[in-house]
Formats: sequence, structure tokens, C-alpha cells
Amino acid sequence: MAMRRIGVLTSGGDSPGMNAAVRAVVRTAHTHDIEVMGIRRGYNGLINGDIVELGQSMVNGLMARGGTMLYTARCPEFMTKEGVEKGRDTLKYRGIEGVIGIGGDGTFRGLRDLAECGVATFGIPATIDNDIACTNYSIGFDTACNTAIDAIDKLRDTMQSHERCSVVEVMGRRAGHIAVYVGIAVGANAILVPEHKLDFERDVFEKIRYARNHGNTHFIIIVAEGAGKAIDVAAEIKEHIGMEPRITVLGHIQRGGTPTARDRVTASRMGKHAVDMLMAGKKNRVVGIIDGNLQDFDIFTALDMKRELQDSMYETAVVLSLSR
Ligand code: ADP
Repeated sequence: MAMRRIGVLTSGGDSPGMNAAVRAVVRTAHTHDIEVMGIRRGYNGLINGDIVELGQSMVNGLMARGGTMLYTARCPEFMTKEGVEKGRDTLKYRGIEGVIGIGGDGTFRGLRDLAECGVATFGIPATIDNDIACTNYSIGFDTACNTAIDAIDKLRDTMQSHERCSVVEVMGRRAGHIAVYVGIAVGANAILVPEHKLDFERDVFEKIRYARNHGNTHFIIIVAEGAGKAIDVAAEIKEHIGMEPRITVLGHIQRGGTPTARDRVTASRMGKHAVDMLMAGKKNRVVGIIDGNLQDFDIFTALDMKRELQDSMYETAVVLSLSR
């Protein structure tokens, strides 16, 4: 029998465009004549029964809003068998037959555990880090990069006036996608990512010296948070080059803001796809965009995939950073 009611949740770190995905889920469900329940605060909502009906009017005006109207939170209890079983029981009690989870790998692990309890699930990748393996693109990445670029452009103006060095820490605990994209886009002198073992002499000092010998009077170094702390990188530069870098940690600013066209459109496409596929009887899958095309992958397979930093992208960043 066809489903009549599904649930949607956002979990893990938020990212701009999550709201657009929730809106797409609600709108698409409406055309299939099914109800959507909003599960609030990630998996906590499943455990506590913190669930509200999402009517059509509740997603009006949501497209342009950053953050997530469903709230998000970590939920350690859902990492236990009892927690997952509580979640399954809540769903049964509320007559919710399928769950769409919007978030990162942790969120998908929760969905996988629900799937093992017999719940139909679908995952939508949303994380500014863009580190989900089964998709070339995760919702929020473009907005986060643009926010960082905007901030660094402003920094550059003042660094240029004062002929200074700036070390900017961007997000990316395990992945350097933001650092590389942003580094290319702002023309950074050096870009440090967790995927490449750091050699200060080669990756930082030599580049600054080279840039200085070629007429640069101000310098921008981008550090992914997973590659090291801006404050430590600045201390090394001070010790070995003699400059006193200014430090900027962009932090959570990168997670907010109104989503860009790319994030709105991607979130809309993915949200619609997830509902259409659930209605077509597919389940326990994660949406991905590969070479611009929507696809979906088995959730177990998706979780086993490994995402890597594109070599050509890193090489472009290195070549264009005015170094040898
Ligand atoms: P993200 O989804 O952005 O990767 P987290 O790793 O913080 O974020 O995971 C978000 C939530 O997903 C966790 O707080 C927890 O509720 C759930 N989760 C994460 N890992 C697991 C797991 N192994 N089993 C069940 N639930 C999990």
C-alpha cells in the first residue's frame, strides 16, 4: 500500500539550503497527496516525540532562509540500540512510514540503523564541508565558500594597505574542499589542507619568500581547520620569516546566510527526488549529484565510499599560488 505520511529531519551541523530542501520535500509530498511531519532537533525529535505537521503554508518564505526551521542537534542516544528502537516506536505510533534525513555521514548512519529496523529511509547530503562520498556536491558548500570569499576580500583590502600577512582559518575538519576552493578564488599564497601532510618550509615559508621576491607586499595563507590552527601557523611564520601575521578564524559565519542559487536549486532538486523515489517504492538510499545528474545510492554502499580531494583542484591551487 502506498505511503500516507512521511517524516523529515535535519541533523548534525547545519548548512545553508537545508530549509530549501525541507520546503521541496513538503511541496513534492503535496503533489503525491501525502502528509509530511517535521521531526525536530535531529534524532532527538524521534526519541522525544518532538514532531509537528508541516503543512504547505509552513514552508512559505523558507527558500531564502539559512539555518534550519526544524532545528538540529547531536543526539548521542541515537547511537545506541535502545535509542534507535525508541525512534522506530515513535514512528510507528505516529503512523510515519518513511523518513528523509538531511545532513552528513552521521545523519546517514542514523538512517541506516532505522532502515535495519524496517523504516523506509532516504538521505539528502547537506554539509558545508562537501565531504560526502556518494555525491560530487553537498548542500551548503557554495554558500559557505562565497561567505568566506567575501570576508577574505575585505581582509585583503586592509592587508594590502598595511602590507601585512594574514592567516585565515576556514572550516573543514576532515576535508580541504572549502580551503582549496576559497584559496583558488581569493588567490591565496598558500593553502593548507588535511589531505596533504604539512611541510612548513615547502608549503608556507618558501611560498611567502617567493611571492615577496616577486613584488608581493601582502600575503594570504588559508588553513583548513583540520590542517592546523591559524594561531600555530602564524607563530611559525613569525619565527621563520619575521613577519607578524594577523589571524582570522572565520568559524560559524560560514555556516549561515541566505543560500546561493546553486544551493537553493540543488536542495530543491534533491528534496523533490527523495520524495519521488520514496513514492516509487525505492528506500534506504542517499541522493547524490554526479556530473550534474541526480542519482541515488544504497545507503550501506554510500557509507562505505571514500571521498577524496580532487588532485587537479589541489594542483591548480598550488600552481596559481605564485609558487614553484
Ligand atoms: P553529520 O550528519 O553532519 O555527519 P554527526 O556526525 O554529528 O553529523 O551526526 C549527527 C547525528 O546522527 C548524531 O548526533 C546521531 O544522532 C546520529 N548518528 C551519528 N552517527 C551515528 C551512528 N553510528 N548510529 C546512529 N546514529 C548516528
